[in-house]
Amino acid sequence: METLKGSCHCGAVAFEVSGSAQPEGLRRCDCSLCSKKGAVMATAKLADFRVSRGQDALSLYQWNTNTAKHYFCSHCGIYTHHQRRVAPDEYGYNVACLEGIDLDRLGEIPMTDGNTLSLVDQ
Ligand SMILES: [Zn+2]
Repeated sequence: METLKGSCHCGAVAFEVSGSAQPEGLRRCDCSLCSKKGAVMATAKLADFRVSRGQDALSLYQWNTNTAKHYFCSHCGIYTHHQRRVAPDEYGYNVACLEGIDLDRLGEIPMTDGNTLSLVDQ
């Protein structure tokens, strides 16, 4: 089975995504959090995403409905993944954290209209 590997900047946190050779569900989001974060996100089912190193280095940020769980490395501050509010059986994760990824080659990334669709904190 194909596994995608990713990590934060300092390397304290690493994760693996199984089940796909390519990141799936690529998107950006224009809600108030994502627009400041600026990350390109992909989606993985909870069972397909695993923090392989540094679970204790992760910090949790919650806002708005406090439903979604936004994780980032407490050392270097890089957003790694979040458990989604609109789809709690999925994680979103930071595509730029993946090994060997070239964001310029991913093509057009669809923008989720997080504000007008009330998908804030997605
Ligand atoms: Zn880090």
